[in-house]
Amino acid sequence: MNETDTLIELLEKKAKLTAMVAPSFPIIFGYPTIITMLKKLGFTYTVEVASGAKKTNEQLLKLLQENPNSRYITSPCPTVVRMIRKQMPRYEKYLTKNVDSPMVATAKIVREKFPGVRPVFIGPCIVKKLEATEDFPELEILVVTYNELNQVFKHFSITEETNPYDKFDISEPGLTRLYPIDGGLSHSSGLTKSFTQGEVQIVSNWNNCQEAIKNFETNTKVRLLDILFCDGGCIGGPGITSPLSREERIEKVKTYANQSS
Ligand code: SF4
Repeated sequence: MNETDTLIELLEKKAKLTAMVAPSFPIIFGYPTIITMLKKLGFTYTVEVASGAKKTNEQLLKLLQENPNSRYITSPCPTVVRMIRKQMPRYEKYLTKNVDSPMVATAKIVREKFPGVRPVFIGPCIVKKLEATEDFPELEILVVTYNELNQVFKHFSITEETNPYDKFDISEPGLTRLYPIDGGLSHSSGLTKSFTQGEVQIVSNWNNCQEAIKNFETNTKVRLLDILFCDGGCIGGPGITSPLSREERIEKVKTYANQSS
């Protein structure tokens, strides 16, 4: 059974579910329309994955502080992690171990705050399915893309509807809402300000990833390689179907990030 069918079955059974919504959602859905529609589907809670991204930043900053002489490659992108593990294992030692991805950090928050309620990650990424099942099976995260969520809306005949009073149960106003744009991690954690120029390298797009990883070993000035596989970051993820250009997608994410609630 694929994840779309699993989600449909869980909703039909009236299972208790928390929707963990990735910060790229404004490319596809309005706010708070997405919350109204998820509630209509039967989700018990809705939370922003930007809240987990805040934890990711805290863990990363702690790691950098405790290991001032070490150099790292960021690990929130499961495709980059898998590429390194399978094709470039000698670079695995640079990955930021024990720094949870925003999805995993959010699932841990959800498991603690809402015991017995299953976390469902809704986002732009298909490889997050492997991260959830292979790396963190104990969290039982169900991963669906925006495209798959739209199929589920269609299955239950949920059409666009907005209750202006709807809000995320865990909201995270602030810079981590910029995580899906390449460099979002470095900017939202303050690293691009606290590190000197050249100490942080920001890379996205599959064409650039391998070379950047290979160069990381010799380019020792770089302390942190902030790397995402898709073009422009998660805003270019395969689980998004949108006619919007890269600039228009960035604009959507930034406009929502500037909201105070
Ligand atoms: S950059 Fe692409 S592959 Fe990596 S986490 Fe984002 S959507 Fe997934």
